[in-house]
Amino acid sequence: MHTSIRNQCLSIVVPCFNEGDGLNAFFSRLESVLTDLGKYDYEIVCIDDGSRDDTLEVLCRHAERNPHIIVLELSRNFGKEAALTAGIDAARGDAVILLDADLQHPPELIVEMVRKWESGSDVVLARRKSRETDHPLKQFFTQWFYQLHNWISECTIPRDVGDFRLMDKRVVEALKHLPERRRFMKGLFAWVGFRQSVVEFVVEPRKSGKSSFTVRRLWALALEGITSFSTVPLSVWIYIGFSVAMLALIYGCWIIIKTLAFGIDVPNYVSLLAAVLFLGGIQLMGIGVLGEYIGRIYSESKQRPVYIIRQRYGGKKQDS
Ligand code: UDP
Ligand code: MG
Repeated sequence: MHTSIRNQCLSIVVPCFNEGDGLNAFFSRLESVLTDLGKYDYEIVCIDDGSRDDTLEVLCRHAERNPHIIVLELSRNFGKEAALTAGIDAARGDAVILLDADLQHPPELIVEMVRKWESGSDVVLARRKSRETDHPLKQFFTQWFYQLHNWISECTIPRDVGDFRLMDKRVVEALKHLPERRRFMKGLFAWVGFRQSVVEFVVEPRKSGKSSFTVRRLWALALEGITSFSTVPLSVWIYIGFSVAMLALIYGCWIIIKTLAFGIDVPNYVSLLAAVLFLGGIQLMGIGVLGEYIGRIYSESKQRPVYIIRQRYGGKKQDS
């Protein structure tokens, strides 16, 4: 139970990439929610993830106006997962809330999340009621991805739950101790576990700007998710290889029997070619999967930092 509420602090972590146009509306909505919440101290940790518009200037203007706002400028665009990691590392609150800057995550929901946290949940997940704002193809592939991921992975990612969530300090501490450099946050959140509860919300359409998750980025994220939490794609080749070898053996026996019974047939080069190409394709796929995992080992072994902070702005006076 979280009883002594007096000096508790909420950290709101906001990754921002080219969000300049929407930030004024974002801060006014968020700050009014936090002021209404009243009894908690708060900090808003904004990460400028190498934006190419005026995001940083707008953030700094707000940080000058409100000392609760801290701005971390990353040295380039590291991606949302890295930006979230930077924010979580910098957050000092007793609870950390991850929030998108595009107002697709309604800040008003924070009130309900905090209530659940007060009544003993370590993690409060925000689940989207529907995916109507997504393209039907994206809906289809997202569904497919979750199904596959949860089927072959050691931990289950809850459906329709994104990064929008509240985490208690101890969950944050646990997350900080996970050493991997390639960070698939949804998987890491699921892996650490803790007592979870759920609140529901409706995703609003983006207020300004456009989504930076292109098909290519989503594909990379899906691959990252699967290779981070499962080795099934590696071991499945034993079974594929065994099945193909068995089929080849049966086919070979059949050819021998046929030749003995009916004599020699006219050789069929097309089926030979098809079999060679098919097997070649299967082998290349196997090598590709191996390559994917070796690539991960390679990038983990370099031990590069997940993000680099160019400068920190705002916050309480002593930080700046
Ligand atoms: N974002 C980020 N770095 C990136 C891409 C996105 O920090 O490289 C932030 C972005 O500013 C937003 C959040 O991540 O606050 C979600 O991004 P977006 O709205 O583009 O994704 P979607 O809502 O379409 O999943
Ligand atoms: Mg969005």
